[in-house]
Amino acid sequence: MASHCMTITLILMSTLVCQSKLLTDSLYHELLSLPIAGDLHIDPESISEASVDYGLIVREIPAAVLRPSYPKDIATLVAFAYNESAIPLTISARGCGHSVRGQAMAHDGVVVDMTSLGNKTTVSWSQSLGHYVDVGGQQLWIDVLEETLKHGVAPVSWTDYLYLTVGGTLSNAGISGETFRYGPQISNVYEMDVITGTGHFLTCSPHKNPKLFYSVLGGLGQFGIITRARIALAPASKRVKWVRMIYSDFSAFMMDQERLISRHEREQDESLDYVEGQLLMRRNSDSWISFFSLSDQPRLLSLVTEHELLYCIEVAKYYDERTQSTVDKDLEMILKDLSHVPEFMFEKDVGYVDFLNRVRAEELVLREQGLWNVPHPWLNLFVPKSRITDFNTGVFQNIVLRKNITTGPVLIYPMNNDKWDDRMSAVIPDEDVFYTVGFLHSSGFGDWQEFDLQNKEVLLFCKANGIKVKQYLPHYSTEREWMQHFGPKWRIFQENKSQFDPKILLSPGQNIFNHN
Ligand code: FAD
Repeated sequence: MASHCMTITLILMSTLVCQSKLLTDSLYHELLSLPIAGDLHIDPESISEASVDYGLIVREIPAAVLRPSYPKDIATLVAFAYNESAIPLTISARGCGHSVRGQAMAHDGVVVDMTSLGNKTTVSWSQSLGHYVDVGGQQLWIDVLEETLKHGVAPVSWTDYLYLTVGGTLSNAGISGETFRYGPQISNVYEMDVITGTGHFLTCSPHKNPKLFYSVLGGLGQFGIITRARIALAPASKRVKWVRMIYSDFSAFMMDQERLISRHEREQDESLDYVEGQLLMRRNSDSWISFFSLSDQPRLLSLVTEHELLYCIEVAKYYDERTQSTVDKDLEMILKDLSHVPEFMFEKDVGYVDFLNRVRAEELVLREQGLWNVPHPWLNLFVPKSRITDFNTGVFQNIVLRKNITTGPVLIYPMNNDKWDDRMSAVIPDEDVFYTVGFLHSSGFGDWQEFDLQNKEVLLFCKANGIKVKQYLPHYSTEREWMQHFGPKWRIFQENKSQFDPKILLSPGQNIFNHN
């Protein structure tokens, strides 16, 4: 066994020697002397995978990829970069690389492929917390769901797509239709283990190392690498009533959405569990038509042709054996006075996992059609409620209709500010209610720039009209833009960076402190 390991190490060393054109000699020798040398990869396939992401717009070539077996392997790499490396060495944790602008890349640095750490999920219960789960930062939310369901419990706050990692979404916020009621995923974390930019391995919570805890949540990977998170759980449901209602009038759409997420509504026991919304156009009908039955599709397509823009509120109510007999009545009460187009309400009854994992089904279809691995020039914004009508007029009714290029879903749904914690790094508009608007474009390889131009026009329109939007999954290229993004939080964000990652090693792909 020992000689086998030695052979592997020798082969690896010779591969490193032959192939490493990117690492300088001294850095390469230093890396090889580390106990993690066997987990470092520089073969073309590993390098090429770590050079791209879901966006397929940015390409940054790392010097090496670390596939750690244990969290301590990551700590070894970071401690080396912080204490010993004569050459500045940046390090980026990569979940699944589902970012769209190179946020998980490290130009000439080391990309840590978090998924090589494998899964470990422990469900526990305590008097003070109730049920909770400890999971690795590298774990996919789908795996967390499957494991927790074995205990009859599940997290309460989700993303639309579950093949994202815990560390990746907690570095942003993690939002979906449940956010209005339970807050983003970052509001549902009790504790984390984090490897800071100095290579220290720290446990943090609101009571222990609170500064690290709050800075890491929504911190865009700038302060440490999350290796474990303790997440809140609640009893899991079994089935879901899933309803879509169509609107031709934006103000009716907006007022109904805001009513559905209001404090009064969400504090009722029988409240909705999920509220989202979408912009429907003939142009992007591929992304929404399949929800509706074949017999309903023609009248929907005719309505959208007549109005050009339609809006759709999508709600869900979860239930189980206990609530099965009342769910229909509760739903009827909640939806009874809404102002959707008469006769345009559509309901489905689906399994709980099928609902939460709904985007996976779309992914598989797109993969089959060769439309999944294409450029994704996405733009995600938080828009203050007070300006959403102006946004509708200037962006949806003008820019989007005039350009007529939009493909993929356009999401629009409101959330409540009081479900977010201002001590965390995530940035949201300063109003009680704000909307998320997500242009989830997918483009051809030759024309993503056209979508980028539309994104720029949207941002310019907001700026020119004083609409104080915040980007979600932000992407900026100058320090000035980042300062504007963080606003009053910028100073503390900088201070936390100097404390937890003073040598500016972590997540260079966010381009906040490492400007090209
Ligand atoms: P990566 O893209 O690999 O990393 C993102 C950032 O986090 C990088 O800066 C990286 O360095 C850092 N990072 C990764 N792991 C760690 C860690 N363990 N510790 C510290 N930093 C780390 N988001 C939502 O909020 N709601 C949605 O509904 C939603 N739907 C999506 C649907 C699709 C199809 C896709 C592709 C993305 C969606 N997203 C959504 C966006 C998603 O949250 C981000 O892409 C996020 O970055 C998670 O992806 P990831 O786990 O692959 O992280």
